[in-house]
Amino acid sequence: MVIGGGTAGVRLAQRLAATAPAGTVNLTLLGEEPHAPYNRVLLAEVLAGRYGPEVIALPPVPGGERRGVRAVRIDRADRLVRCADGGVVPYDRLILATGSNPVLPPLRGLRRPDHDGLPEGVHAFRTMDDCLALSAAVRPGTRAVVIGGGLLGVSAARALAERGAQVVLAQQGQHLMERQLDRAGSRLLRNQLEAWGVEVHTECRVRGLVRTADDTRVAAVELADGFRLDAELTVLACGVRPRTGLARAAGLDVRRGVVVDDELRTSDPSIHAIGDCVEHDERLYGLAGAALEQADVLARLLTVDPSARYTGTRSLTRLTLGALAPGARPDGPSEASPDALPEVAPEVPLDVAAFGETTPLPGDDTVQLTDATRGTYRKVVVRGDRLVGGVLLGDLATVGTLARAWEDDVPLPPTTPLLHLLTPDGGS
Ligand SMILES: Cc1cc2nc3c(=O)[nH]c(=O)nc-3n(C[C@H](O)[C@H](O)[C@H](O)COP(=O)(O)OP(=O)(O)OC[C@H]3O[C@@H](n4cnc5c(N)ncnc54)[C@H](O)[C@@H]3O)c2cc1C
Repeated sequence: MVIGGGTAGVRLAQRLAATAPAGTVNLTLLGEEPHAPYNRVLLAEVLAGRYGPEVIALPPVPGGERRGVRAVRIDRADRLVRCADGGVVPYDRLILATGSNPVLPPLRGLRRPDHDGLPEGVHAFRTMDDCLALSAAVRPGTRAVVIGGGLLGVSAARALAERGAQVVLAQQGQHLMERQLDRAGSRLLRNQLEAWGVEVHTECRVRGLVRTADDTRVAAVELADGFRLDAELTVLACGVRPRTGLARAAGLDVRRGVVVDDELRTSDPSIHAIGDCVEHDERLYGLAGAALEQADVLARLLTVDPSARYTGTRSLTRLTLGALAPGARPDGPSEASPDALPEVAPEVPLDVAAFGETTPLPGDDTVQLTDATRGTYRKVVVRGDRLVGGVLLGDLATVGTLARAWEDDVPLPPTTPLLHLLTPDGGS
């Protein structure tokens, strides 16, 4: 039985159906969300109005899934899962694929003792329901504030701008997408967002939410220096935290995530865990690539290859920030960019890919190419004879070759000039 009908749970169900000998697996997949399973990575495309929700549906789960059902307790002694609707599902083997929850920042005015959910006008950006609610609330000219300048915040800001909203992105850190990009890459990304009409503030801490006079909804966001930004819509994109409540209540070993070994087994040998909820080798991933790889390894391990092991994922982060419909924001960027890096035309989508260590250590070699005319930036970091990281913006022609060299962790050819790593033919 699998709890969680997201990226990891659905992939596992598909792989088990494909590899298990007929009749050997009787799978129940429980998912709390009422929608058909979908590709979460593409939610911003739905918010942008580029795709309908049905376009991002995942391939059907063989045997179907039980939707809109939340597991509320694991009874390990009797091997039962109890559901919010009163249902009880027995299991021989249980797989937790419960994903993560959005982090709610400690903002004044966010939580109220008499109210469980988020205040009116404030949205998280994690689920299809979040996305549909945001989509219903946004209109051309809506004043929106996105709190958080990581991958989620950047995607949400771009999508809302594409819908014609006046977007301010407030990022507490020094630059955008700090986990993935180096400073120069992040500056180019900022230029692009500004060209799309998003007002970007870095090193900008939000301290509270301000309600309307009649106290029915949030109307503004208050910054640490007291300045108030009008906000008909506020999006919280402040990171995610593994969803571990069920596992913890069942007495499983939980640190930051549900602790698993190389067989993706929790501290109870009949319970496995995969995806965002997992902590493996003291690492949390929070990325689709790792969730898929864990699901693939576990499916093999449970069916055809008991010796299969998960030893970690070297996962590439890839994102396409789509084109702004011409004329959607006729007033253009809010301020001229102070950066020397190129601005790209608003109609052109920006592809971003990053992997590994993008900031060199002393002694590392760095190769960097900036093309001001085409608005591209490419950089790789090499340590000894290994590629340890890279950032590509605007031109992803070499991403496949680079990602393979990094994932395989093999020595780079000694005779190839490093510059050739950034050319599509690898210098051949
Ligand atoms: C907007 C957005 C953009 C993203 N973009 C990227 C990207 O570009 N690249 C990338 O690598 N990653 C990206 N991610 C992260 C990626 O989506 C996750 O890493 C991936 O979905 C993790 O898969 P999962 O199955 O572990 O969790 P999820 O896909 O979150 O699925 C978990 C499911 O379990 C259900 N569930 C939880 N508890 C219960 C319960 N008790 N009972 C029943 N059901 C339950 C949840 O409702 C949910 O449907 C993005 C995420 C978001 C939100």
